[in-house]
Amino acid sequence: MEDDLYIEQLEYGPMANFVYIIGSRSTREAVLVDPAWDIDGLLEHVRSRGFEPTAALVTHYHPDHVGGDLFGQHIEGLAELIGKKGMKIYVNREDADGVRQVTGVSESDLIRVDDEDKIQIGEVEIGFMHTPGHTPGSQCFRVRNRLVSGDTLFIQGCGRVDLPGSDPEQMFHSLRRLAELPDEVVLFPGHNYGGGPQQELGETKKMNPYLRIPTLEMWRQMMG
Ligand SMILES: [Zn+2]
Repeated sequence: MEDDLYIEQLEYGPMANFVYIIGSRSTREAVLVDPAWDIDGLLEHVRSRGFEPTAALVTHYHPDHVGGDLFGQHIEGLAELIGKKGMKIYVNREDADGVRQVTGVSESDLIRVDDEDKIQIGEVEIGFMHTPGHTPGSQCFRVRNRLVSGDTLFIQGCGRVDLPGSDPEQMFHSLRRLAELPDEVVLFPGHNYGGGPQQELGETKKMNPYLRIPTLEMWRQMMG
């Protein structure tokens, strides 16, 4: 079934954000993960590959992932996307209000999802994992042996937990959960923060200190 899956990683913007296209080669449908920064360019790119975007998937509500205003600058994102091509936005229910506030999209544009929900495009199944910590509704996407992790897990680090809505203790538990995934799962992070664009999780478990902290007590000490 591997042959039906199309996945592509694109880097956009000054914060080195990764946007993902996950598509079905048989139906030519594609979902866009964290579409932001250059919506025309992204749509053009997806269509140049022969796919039609049918939904947006959001890892969390921060403007560099969904669009909105950040440090006085406007970042294109979900609002521009659905203005050009109507589609639903899949967001964890804990981050849904944040997405509405940051982007201005309306409730009817959203599909609020929970941990272990799934969607299907062609023969490609995408599973949602709720991994709170960076934000209350941060989520990762599991596609076969791939994990699209947003700002929960980077190759060499993890998302910040000192922001409004962050919760260091939840982050610890989310990272423990990711550390239990099989070694052969390939990690596709939300930013290009070093260590390469993707990595087998077995390697990340060895090299990333945040995945190596076994107890909450040690985590608390490390996070100060
Ligand atoms: Zn973030």
